[in-house]
Amino acid sequence: MTDKPKITPDLVVFARWIVPVIPNETIFENSALFVTKGRISHLVPASEAETMLSDNALHAATRLENHALIPGLINAHGHAAMTLLRGVGDDMPLQAWLEQRIWPLEGELADAEFVNAGVRLAAAEMIRSGTTCFADNYFYPDESAKVTLETKLRVQLACPVLDFPTRWAKNADEYINKTTALHDRYRDSERVHVAFGPHSPYSVSDEPLRKIAKLAAELDLPIHMHVHETQAEVDDAQRRDGIRPLARLHALGLLTPRLICTHMTALTQNEIELMAESGSHVAHCPESNLKLASGFCEVEKLTRHGINVALGTDGCASNNDLDMFSEMRTAAQLGKAVAKDATAVPASAALAMATINGAKAMGLDGEIGSLEIGKLADLCAVDMSGINSMPLYDVVSQLIYSTQASQVSHVWSSGEPLLYNGKLQTIDEQKLKQTTQEWQLRVKQTADMA
Ligand SMILES: [Zn+2]
Repeated sequence: MTDKPKITPDLVVFARWIVPVIPNETIFENSALFVTKGRISHLVPASEAETMLSDNALHAATRLENHALIPGLINAHGHAAMTLLRGVGDDMPLQAWLEQRIWPLEGELADAEFVNAGVRLAAAEMIRSGTTCFADNYFYPDESAKVTLETKLRVQLACPVLDFPTRWAKNADEYINKTTALHDRYRDSERVHVAFGPHSPYSVSDEPLRKIAKLAAELDLPIHMHVHETQAEVDDAQRRDGIRPLARLHALGLLTPRLICTHMTALTQNEIELMAESGSHVAHCPESNLKLASGFCEVEKLTRHGINVALGTDGCASNNDLDMFSEMRTAAQLGKAVAKDATAVPASAALAMATINGAKAMGLDGEIGSLEIGKLADLCAVDMSGINSMPLYDVVSQLIYSTQASQVSHVWSSGEPLLYNGKLQTIDEQKLKQTTQEWQLRVKQTADMA
C-alpha cells in the first residue's frame, strides 16, 4: 500500500470548533480548514489533517486550541467614514441629529481626505471585531475602495444618489454616472463590489429612481436604500405624495431581489407580503434604531414570511460602534422582545443574519458568508478560553450571548491575515491613532463653530 502524497495548502487552521453556518446547526469539533489560492479547499477532522499534510504545512499551521472559527462577519449597512463623527451628536432625535449636527459637519469636512481617514479607522475597528465584508453608503466611494484594497477587506460600495448637491456630485445624473464609472473600474474585483445607494425615498425623486431601476437591471447591480426608517417618514410621504414609500418604490420598479431596504421599522401586513413576493432584502440595524428611537423592525415576522434579513451596525455616529458581536446579541434580544416570544431570533439565526444573510443581500452568497469548500476563505477566530465563555455547553449560544468583540484573535480574508494573535496585519495602528487625533481636533473645532 502506497501512502497518498502529502499536501501543502497556502494556509492551515486547526480549531477546537468550526461553525460553518451552512449546513445550519452544524459544528465541527477538533477540525482543520485548509486554504488554497484564497479559497477553502478542505474541511476535515484534525486527526485526518495530520496525516494529509506535509511537514512544512504542519509546521506553519495555525493551531487555535480554545477557539471557534466562524465565517468573517458581514456588516450589511453602514457609513464607514462617519466613524470620525463617533459621539459628536448623541441623545438627539433623528431629524435634529441630521440637520443640526451631522449634515453641517459633513458639509464642512466630508472630502476625500476625511473619507480616507474615516474608512481606515472603521476598517481597523471592523477587523478587530471579526468583520471582513461591509456595505458602505458614503461620498467619495473611490476612497473607500482604495482603503478596502489596502486593508484587504471586502466592500459593497453603495454609491450615494441624492436630488441635491454635495461635495461629491452636483445632481442625480452626476451621482449615477459616477456610480456606473466606478462599477466599470471594479467590475472584475473580488474585493470591491459596486451598488447604487439612493439615500432614501424622501431624498431621491421619481426620475432618478426609475433610471436606477433600469441601470441596475441592465448591469445586474444591487440597490441599497434606507426605507421606512421611521413611522414619521411613512406619514410624511403619505401626506406629501399620497402614497407610502414602499408602494412608490414598487410602482417605480425597484422591488426586486436586487434591492436591500435598510431599517424597515414601519410595515403593514400587505407590505410584508409584497417584500416576500419581490425577493427584496432587509438590512436590520437594531442598535441604530434603538439609539435614534426610530422604531422596531419585526425580524421574526419578516423571517417567517421568507424575507432575507441581514444585519448592519449603521454609521458609527448612531450606534456608536461597528461591533457585529454586540449587534448580533442586540438583534437576538430585541427580536424576542418585539415578537413577545423568547423563541424568536435564536442564536443560530442571529449568526446567519451576520454572515450568510448579509452575503445573500449583497448577491455574494456564492463567494462568502459560510465556510464551505470553494468559497473565499474569509475567517474569524474567537478565543473562548476566558472566564465569560465558561462553562461552554453550546458554542453558538456563547458566540451570540456572551462573547465580546475583544475575543476575536485572528481574521483572514481570502486566506490573507488581517489580524494575527490580536495584531493588525494590514494597518499601522500607531499611525492610525495619530491621524485620528488630528481629525478629532478638526471635527471639534468645526462643531464648536457651528
Ligand atoms: Zn444608514
